[in-house]
Amino acid sequence: MKLFYDYHVHTVFSEDSSMGMEEMCLGAIERNIVEIAVTDHLDIDYPDRDFQFDLDYAAYSTAIDHAREKYHGRLNIIKGIEIGLQAHILDECAAFLEGKDFQFVIASVHAVSGMDLSGDEYYRQKTKKAAYIEYLEALLACIKNFKAFNVVGHVDLLRRYGSYRDKSMKHSDFGDLLDLVFEELISTGRGLEINTSGFRYKLQSTLPDLDLLKRYRELGGEILTIGSDAHTPHHLAYYFSAAYQVVKKAGFDYITRFPNGEPEFVKI
Ligand SMILES: [Zn+2]
Ligand SMILES: [Zn+2]
Repeated sequence: MKLFYDYHVHTVFSEDSSMGMEEMCLGAIERNIVEIAVTDHLDIDYPDRDFQFDLDYAAYSTAIDHAREKYHGRLNIIKGIEIGLQAHILDECAAFLEGKDFQFVIASVHAVSGMDLSGDEYYRQKTKKAAYIEYLEALLACIKNFKAFNVVGHVDLLRRYGSYRDKSMKHSDFGDLLDLVFEELISTGRGLEINTSGFRYKLQSTLPDLDLLKRYRELGGEILTIGSDAHTPHHLAYYFSAAYQVVKKAGFDYITRFPNGEPEFVKI
């Protein structure tokens, strides 16, 4: 029986999720998850004014502590966060994290140049190449100037959105920037996640896919968490067996967990 470590999950504390903490715990236990990192959203100054990703830290933290106690011995719960980076809010992001007891931080770029990447506006009148380069440059600048995180979330996120016929982000097309991103992460003891939401978005692959993961490994990448990005119990550990195969094919024998804020490696 395979045991899973799901390191990217959203509960009711994220505005786009209605999964209760209790529901998440029971769903996780049912799906052979032994450890789960709750990573609700904080997206400061998110461009969509109707949809704000604020995080009520006190309530969130209390709910996690409570669940952790209740499910002790059955499910290990990691207090995490997915923090949305944008060039102009990096100091605020750092200030938010300061002094809080997060064990695991995912840094994601969900908005670029004041536009939400899940909407149409960002892609309007832009070639795919221009859209992807602008995103990768923004991501690179953010991770150079913001250090307080463990992994970058869904590094090729743009593949989920936009209306381009071919949504791939191949190393052969964007290798220069991707290598800079990977090298920055590797040289500073941070890493990547492999996010299985690609299967929900009909991409038939993980985010990032095998091509990019192989390159990350080739450059010396070691830190790799695995996350479903679930917003409902049904999606917890979604396609994890398939993702484990991708991880192995890319040359990793281990995935990473962060029980104490430091990486620990689990053989798969
Ligand atoms: Zn995200
Ligand atoms: Zn997420």
